[in-house]
Amino acid sequence: MLLVKVGGSLGIDYDSVCEDLASIVHSGQQVILVHGGSAETNLLSEQLGKPPRMVTSVSGYESRYTDQETLEIFKMVYCGKMNKGIVERLQKLNVNAVGLSGLDGRLWEGKRKSTIRVIENGKKRVLRDDYTGKVEKINVNLLQILFKNGYTPILTPPGISHEGEAINVDGDRAIAALGAAINIEKLVILSNTPGLLKNLSDEGSLIEKIPFENIDTFMKYAQGRMKKKVMAAIEALNGGVKEVIFGDARIPKPIYQALKGRGTVIFRQD
Ligand code: ADP
Repeated sequence: MLLVKVGGSLGIDYDSVCEDLASIVHSGQQVILVHGGSAETNLLSEQLGKPPRMVTSVSGYESRYTDQETLEIFKMVYCGKMNKGIVERLQKLNVNAVGLSGLDGRLWEGKRKSTIRVIENGKKRVLRDDYTGKVEKINVNLLQILFKNGYTPILTPPGISHEGEAINVDGDRAIAALGAAINIEKLVILSNTPGLLKNLSDEGSLIEKIPFENIDTFMKYAQGRMKKKVMAAIEALNGGVKEVIFGDARIPKPIYQALKGRGTVIFRQD
């Protein structure tokens, strides 16, 4: 079983990701794909007159402030345009893909964090009415039902709170939790960058290999949203995953290339 996450940032080549995924499925391997949708969400939010509000928590992590209106737009893009776009591409390639959000069948359940402490213009503030959370419980049984019957699951945020509300969950951390729950060996996380870079403006500064025990030394290179990816990798490896690969989703055969080691490979030696 292979677990792949493809981000939602600008420049990602979804056709290549789907073609590559289809050839892996046709070779007989089971795959779960998780996807994002951040760039499209930002675009639609602007078009609807509700510009995105990115906030930085007091601990330094960036996220999208998600009130009810934002959540509506979020669902339109992630569960609608993005998810169905990927399912349609895969169906054209003869992969029997089924798209589900973390809400469906309580696939990704977690605790809602309704208030967040953020830093805005140098000042600490508490924001309320936020619908975000972290995946704590995974409906593995639902995925098994799909696999047993030959379907390929295409998963997307939002997740679901214990009270049954939609919550914005981070896709990278959700796939890390999923990888740990189903004892996966390798996790491929594709984005619009060659991997973790030492210098964000120099794609040649790629860090190729990171032994897990040294991960803390590399955290300083991650800025903005990359910090959550590194955090997700740490959570996955702590959960028993052996290898996390940050690969480039802008190139042909992005999954195959990542599996061959092109990108940043974070690995456990034990
Ligand atoms: P996605 O939506 O594809 O999951 P994100 O936009 O959340 O991806 O995160 C990837 C982004 O992280 C890159 O586009 C880049 O701008 C940013 N980033 C910050 N620091 C780094 C770094 N050291 N190396 C690579 N990317 C970085």
